[in-house]
Amino acid sequence: MTPRANTFVSPEEEPSTSTSTLQQLGEKLWTLPKGSGHPDVYQTLLDYYRLPAGFMLANTITVDRVSDNTGFFQFGPKNICYGRSQSGVAANLARASQFDASAAVRREPGIIHLPFSFAEVIDNLRLEHYRKEVVPGREVLAASEPIRKLYYLIREHLPIKVRRQLQKLYFQDWQTLPFPSWPVDFTVDNLHEEFLRLLVENSDVKKVPFIWFWPEGAPSCLMMTHDVETSAGRDFTAQLMDLDDSYGIKASYQVIPEERYEVRDQYVSEIRNRGFEFNVHDLNHDGNLYREREEFKRRATKINDYLRQYDSRGFRAGAMYRNQDWYDVFEFSYDMSVPNVAHLEPMRGGCCTVMPYFVGNILELPLTLVQDYSLFHILNDYSIDLWTQQLALIRRRNGLMSFITHPDYLIERRARNVYASLLDYLRQMIEREKIWPACPGEIDRWWRTRSQMKVVPRGSEWEIVGPGSERARLAYAVVDGGRLTYEVANASPRENSLR
Ligand SMILES: [Zn+2]
Repeated sequence: MTPRANTFVSPEEEPSTSTSTLQQLGEKLWTLPKGSGHPDVYQTLLDYYRLPAGFMLANTITVDRVSDNTGFFQFGPKNICYGRSQSGVAANLARASQFDASAAVRREPGIIHLPFSFAEVIDNLRLEHYRKEVVPGREVLAASEPIRKLYYLIREHLPIKVRRQLQKLYFQDWQTLPFPSWPVDFTVDNLHEEFLRLLVENSDVKKVPFIWFWPEGAPSCLMMTHDVETSAGRDFTAQLMDLDDSYGIKASYQVIPEERYEVRDQYVSEIRNRGFEFNVHDLNHDGNLYREREEFKRRATKINDYLRQYDSRGFRAGAMYRNQDWYDVFEFSYDMSVPNVAHLEPMRGGCCTVMPYFVGNILELPLTLVQDYSLFHILNDYSIDLWTQQLALIRRRNGLMSFITHPDYLIERRARNVYASLLDYLRQMIEREKIWPACPGEIDRWWRTRSQMKVVPRGSEWEIVGPGSERARLAYAVVDGGRLTYEVANASPRENSLR
């Protein structure tokens, strides 16, 4: 039997004392104390769920002495982790299943002993620190300087057919890549759920309040973005906005500031005046943004200047190249360059989550659906089947459904028809399920606002406080039969307390 700790004070159970206790704790402990237990575990869960501080303190979490080696292990049958663990790690992915850390979790009343650092593993997945161990030889070869130089030298002279053949060759192994899992990876989300479940099971309550992920209680969120690759794409922008508008969908346009094509002020204002968003796409899209640290810093400074010049807050790198460990140089508010699972991107890996997350001050809005280019030109699939399959999986987990489609690739009639049927599908899905369709800038604002809100007790209720809390909804994580599920309160807590 699981030992129970009676340290979680819920206002419903102890209305006379708990309010003042929690309020006393509340203010101080939203900034969690350093050195007590392992605050990084608390902070990681707090950032994801926005839980009340009182609940977080019901359990002390300690991390047992971990190994010196970093490697792969599992947490339960589904979740592949990368980090250090007391219960052992494998040097390569294939042997991860030999080390299941979930068996080594020990529970006592009020104390949970973990064999690894939760926060470290979450960071290693989101920031793709595991990537160097899993990239296929082909990517390493393609990234080597002489091969790259040669390719870029001759690329312009290669017929499009030959280029696509080379790409097919490069991508032919994608189905054999075991991690992250295709077509959507939820490891980071699974781990948060598992740890919240552990905490709930180790306390006396079966239900813990948190701030629901999306405004007005929307079950999930949808974001459409368009990267403008060439002057042909730029010139097709107005038509694509017409198409999006005819299905009631607003998108953000990412535009390359240097070398590729001219960006006139009128173009920028036309996009904005129609209620679409304008963001920066790379600097010159030559594939070299992250090649070398000093050159990167020089380019990042120029990118920051362009963001100010265009009054934009969002960025995406060319070809989804990325190095999240260098993001501190950037001054934008949100980035959109990290795929959830990158099997069909030139740079493999993936952040293994369908939720936004902070990288320092920058909010990452991960790409969670296959790009139009990959679908049409790598998979040669002119249907919306893969998209609808991914959408269903992400909706089941209340995540962010984020698309990249390109005006450049939608000029062609066949591709455009597929895109139109996608828009039709999305429109119906949004209406039927009350999904929140939003531009990335709105999602960035919401996620930042939510990150400042708190759940506090008020009488026998819980209340969300802080600027913007009128859009927030209280939700409950409920453990039932060993499973964690979410329930969203229909009305805002403020409306509740007025009734
Ligand atoms: Zn691009």
